[in-house]
Amino acid sequence: MDTRTIINLPYLNRRARLIRMATTSSKVFIFDTTLRDGEQAPGCSMTTTEKVRMAGKLAELGVDIMEAGFPIASTGDFEAVQAVCRSLPVKVAALARCTALDIERAAQALDKAKSPPRIHTFLATSDIHLKYKLKKTRAQVLEDAAKAVELARKYVDDVEFSAEDGGRTEVGYLIDVSRAVVKAGAGTVNIPDTVGYAVPEDYGKLIGEVAKALGSSAVVSVHCHNDLGLAVANSLAAVQNGARQVECTVNGIGERAGNCSLEEIVMVLATRRDRIGLETGIKTTELYPASQLLTEIIGVAVQPNKAIVGSNAFAHEAGIHQDGFLKERTTYEIIDPKTVGVPESKLVLGKHSGRHALRARCDELGITLDKAQLDEFYTRFVALADGKKGILDDEIRKLASEVSGNNISRKIA
Ligand code: MN
Repeated sequence: MDTRTIINLPYLNRRARLIRMATTSSKVFIFDTTLRDGEQAPGCSMTTTEKVRMAGKLAELGVDIMEAGFPIASTGDFEAVQAVCRSLPVKVAALARCTALDIERAAQALDKAKSPPRIHTFLATSDIHLKYKLKKTRAQVLEDAAKAVELARKYVDDVEFSAEDGGRTEVGYLIDVSRAVVKAGAGTVNIPDTVGYAVPEDYGKLIGEVAKALGSSAVVSVHCHNDLGLAVANSLAAVQNGARQVECTVNGIGERAGNCSLEEIVMVLATRRDRIGLETGIKTTELYPASQLLTEIIGVAVQPNKAIVGSNAFAHEAGIHQDGFLKERTTYEIIDPKTVGVPESKLVLGKHSGRHALRARCDELGITLDKAQLDEFYTRFVALADGKKGILDDEIRKLASEVSGNNISRKIA
């Protein structure tokens, strides 16, 4: 639907028009929960000052909504939500269970926000949670959810409801709850895979059914956990089936195995736009700086082989790969590292490297070798590299100077 069609819906108020536009557009909203679900992970908690610092970077990154905390949980969380929403002109969400106390506390924390804020209220809907955790019937849960949303709407125009453990909720009941909360005033309905159990095909189908049932009355959102390593794949299946909001975190931090990684879902949509046809408003050149800042703040390092932001994500060691890469980058790289804010690709010189990469590194170091010298250099290099993890530039200089008979290290220095 284009903007003209939206404007020609005079019977809808502004809020309803915005929701309708969101459900029919190709833009996927990025709801960042680094400061809430992310910091719930062991070792990842942040102080208010640290959250405000990270929130500034998330704003530069261009996230559409940032969830800053769970105000009823602690004074620290309350203060952090307050500080973030009062310091930045971005939509900030505060989490609340479906109780009056939680919702009022969230509303207080969001008071005087610079941008219209969101209350995000949640209640479990799966039979397993109803039976063992809540000890409530489906009818009671549906009523509590609708009442909570109604109360939240008294404070803010923008309310999100999450059907906790939605991924394991029976679809008919999930749709009943979704319709009830939308009727009560929710503009976003989130169907989380709280326990990371879903597989993409089933989850996509479930989201498709909820999206069809809600039509353009609310944005369908997803929140996937990575217990089986499928958080990004499940989120992708969801947006391909009508979801228009993805909840995710920088570096994929979060409860247990973490949440859908922000940088990965964003780069899947950006890199494979040809196939998927959806986009986000994220400034991708800020992805790596945001990842680095989070690491610096929480002191939890990213695994080297992590997609997009890991230290090896743009490193090449295999000789065949290095040779292809040096001839034409796109032979072995699907993303130009600059587009995600990584300064440059790394050619790691090790036992798998070939002559081409060695010559390139020598050129960078200002070392000139003739063909015979390069051959000898290569043989000695491979022997040296065989027992090591990587070769330092100083070792290359030393070896090259031995081969060429010049004292290259002194000359370079
Ligand atoms: Mn979660």
